[in-house]
Amino acid sequence: MALLMNKVALVTGAGAGIGRATAIKFAEEGATVVVSDIDPVGGQETVDLVQASGGEASFIRADVSSPSDVAAMVQHAVTTHGRLDCACNNAGIEGKIAPLAEQAEASFDRVLSVNLRGVFLCLRAEITEMLKTGGGSIVNLSSVAGLIGFAGLSPYVASKHGVNGLTKNAALEYAKQGIRVNSICPGGIDTRMLDSLAEQSTGGSMDTSEMMAPLHPIGRIGTPDEVANLIAWLCSDRASFVTGAHVPVDGGYVAQ
Ligand code: NAP
Repeated sequence: MALLMNKVALVTGAGAGIGRATAIKFAEEGATVVVSDIDPVGGQETVDLVQASGGEASFIRADVSSPSDVAAMVQHAVTTHGRLDCACNNAGIEGKIAPLAEQAEASFDRVLSVNLRGVFLCLRAEITEMLKTGGGSIVNLSSVAGLIGFAGLSPYVASKHGVNGLTKNAALEYAKQGIRVNSICPGGIDTRMLDSLAEQSTGGSMDTSEMMAPLHPIGRIGTPDEVANLIAWLCSDRASFVTGAHVPVDGGYVAQ
């Protein structure tokens, strides 16, 4: 039995990377998918990929740091597909690698605005709708950088620790109303973001996988699909007793 049969599921930042893989996975598992991204080209490509494999999806452009965009995004799910059962708050940016004393305020503010305020705005709008229909399940994208520090990435680390805090609070506040809220903490996953971090670290002198693989006990970086498998499971009723958790999907990174 498919994990998400007859569910309506939203994914932010679904125009690329982990978000795209999650949208495709949700559809494979039977959900009708609301694909959202700041980039309409990538977002529409994801919708086309879902539809090409027989799934159902629609696109709505949204910048998750904008309250009006986020409200319109959740409204789109309800008016177009009737309800909202699952959400994956995935949109995020990495920011600049620099020691804390050299971090610019504007760069710090932008990372917090997308990664933390964005998750807050999405949670608020999604929970409001889920309360009307008796519950739902939400997965926020944190990171191994939400569990431990990474030198040079203070805005990103602060934002992802904040995502885990918001996740705990939302889980506690809505547990009795049938809404589960969890976060996942990926290690290095093969996407544009990881390429950007590797490029910033080495100036392009090393391939991303060559640089990142040895940092993971399992000996390689992960794929977006491996992350999407966990997100789909957490969103499904199979995870009915899991809430307020921060689940690593990191090839053993934080076990070290
Ligand atoms: P990605 O490949 O850069 O994809 C992110 C997507 O989000 C892009 O389509 C991007 O659009 C979109 N986006 C950026 N800012 C947005 C905004 N303000 N509103 C809506 N959409 C926005 O990144 P990814 O690696 O898949 O990362 C997805 C999530 O996983 C992020 O939260 C990230 O922090 C987390 N994560 C990733 C890794 C990793 O190794 N890749 C590890 C741990 C956690 P544009 O391309 O147009 O900017």
